[in-house]
Amino acid sequence: MAWTLAPAVRAIFDETNARWPNRNKASDGTLGDQAHASRTSDHNPNSRGVVMAGDITNDPANGVDCNTIAEAIKDDPRVKYIIWNRRIYNPSISRTWRTYTGSNPHDKHLHLSVTDAGSNDTRPWLTATDPGGFGTMDDKKILEEFANVTKREGALLDALVDKITEQAQKHNTAARERDAKLFALLERIEAKLP
Ligand SMILES: [Zn+2]
Repeated sequence: MAWTLAPAVRAIFDETNARWPNRNKASDGTLGDQAHASRTSDHNPNSRGVVMAGDITNDPANGVDCNTIAEAIKDDPRVKYIIWNRRIYNPSISRTWRTYTGSNPHDKHLHLSVTDAGSNDTRPWLTATDPGGFGTMDDKKILEEFANVTKREGALLDALVDKITEQAQKHNTAARERDAKLFALLERIEAKLP
């Protein structure tokens, strides 16, 4: 049977791959195997032929820490449920992590099922939340770039302050000259007074 992956699930894979190109994919999954096919699973294509779930391999050494990812995405409205490391988060039941007792402890990958309503929504999953929460080389690059921008902004600000100071000095000089003329005029008027 022809099947497609829900775009929202595709989006988290694309984002994860782009962010951590060296990540381990050993426990990744989309379409279910024979074992899945014999039971109800979002890894089996639904009535529209769409697989509504994805498994992301836990690989903290290469940046993919499923603890961090689980926390970052759990309140995204596209989440139907998440299973990670013997716990399940299903917001339609409870916005707390509950013990998961299924035969697969899900300690090698995070399972994400998406809702029907959210399945075509391909907005970023990770960058919109907790942008500083992932310790990666990418973040270092972003910080370096930010420092460069700040430095350039600092230089621009210095130039602006110089310009304002120059204008203020010109203004003061003009004001002093005006005052001097006025004073001279007053002196002449005073001299003519009886
Ligand atoms: Zn799964």
